[in-house]
Amino acid sequence: VRVVRTRAERFGAVVATEDPAAIVSIDRALATRIGIDGGALWEGVAPSLSDVAMLEAPNEAHVAVTDRCPAGCRGCYADARAEGNEPTLEEIEARLRGLAELGVLSVALGGGEAALRDDLPRIGEIARQLGMVPTVTTSGLGIDAARARAMRVFAQVNVSHDGIDGGYEAVRGFRGAALAERAIAALVHAGVPVGINTVLTRATFDAIPGTAARAVELGAIEIQLLRFKPSGRGRLDYLAQRLERAQIARLPAMLREISSRAEIGVRIDCSLVPFLSGDPSIRPEDLVRFGVMGCEAGRSLMAMRSDGTIAGCSFWRETAPGVDGATEGRGAWEDDVGLARFRVHHARPAEPCASCALRAACRGGCRIVAAHLTGDPWALDPECPRVVAHRA
Ligand code: SF4
Ligand code: SF4
Repeated sequence: VRVVRTRAERFGAVVATEDPAAIVSIDRALATRIGIDGGALWEGVAPSLSDVAMLEAPNEAHVAVTDRCPAGCRGCYADARAEGNEPTLEEIEARLRGLAELGVLSVALGGGEAALRDDLPRIGEIARQLGMVPTVTTSGLGIDAARARAMRVFAQVNVSHDGIDGGYEAVRGFRGAALAERAIAALVHAGVPVGINTVLTRATFDAIPGTAARAVELGAIEIQLLRFKPSGRGRLDYLAQRLERAQIARLPAMLREISSRAEIGVRIDCSLVPFLSGDPSIRPEDLVRFGVMGCEAGRSLMAMRSDGTIAGCSFWRETAPGVDGATEGRGAWEDDVGLARFRVHHARPAEPCASCALRAACRGGCRIVAAHLTGDPWALDPECPRVVAHRA
């Protein structure tokens, strides 16, 4: 394990590593053993990791390096378009510098289609020079052998591939799976660690084990499953795309099945955690221990849009001038009212979240889904099985 960057926290420290790439929380004793000094932060009794409402800085920042994308995917959460906004390299460098000074460990670059930028590898280099671990998410558009070699600067490249057997087409509205697979193969051949991002919809769900097997064949090291978000163009046919209740009930067993094959790392995104609440055999302490994170917006995660404004996560489209996205630098993390609203929600959720065993990992479900389905971003996540049962 290579330690890339550390940051002291009241409970101990967070450490960004490579080989394997990870962000790990450690206690004060272990932090001391690897040479971290918490200073004034370590005065008094150490809180537990899950009791900390806001870390000293985001562990990860999601940075949109463009809003441009010609692909026109039907469910694009960013509503990206061919003529979308794109910041200059100088603007991005200044933003990355600000994030590094804030103490961010890792930057996940996205868009729009980040790979449309010729200077994308240079952005990765700048992040490295600033001491942060860069990753990028792409549809694979324009990644040939030469481009793949230039992507070696990234700790991991995540390629969107929504599934075999027509799954890709069902989510995105066009046949792009072959293009994604070509990009994955080129990246793997160039020695770049590759993960695939697969959006779960009622059309892709049954093919997930086969999609994971295909990812193994292509040489990917990880499959990340993501909940379909009603954000951007994803709002348009959300009700037709979202998982059925029976599929949600089958998700924990399916995760066990594909992860037990141990051929590939399996991750779920923040907003899928509520779907584990229907399985009583899942131990909440294991979720926390193994870093299965629910809503981390404003706690260890911050997003930066292409215009430089900030948000709790990249799916959060709402911007109220002077409310969120208006503050900069360290003040943005500590004082931004938009981020604070997430923290308040995480700290004081209504029932059944308040008494939920999964609460420390889940933090009350997805605000994007709640906002879309109820009109209130701070309402219960209406698709969580425990919420459904509570209401019944
Ligand atoms: S609101 Fe929270 S759970 Fe939903 S996508 Fe954003 S970070 Fe994830
Ligand atoms: S009841 Fe609330 S905290 Fe528990 S899993 Fe559902 S959304 Fe998450």
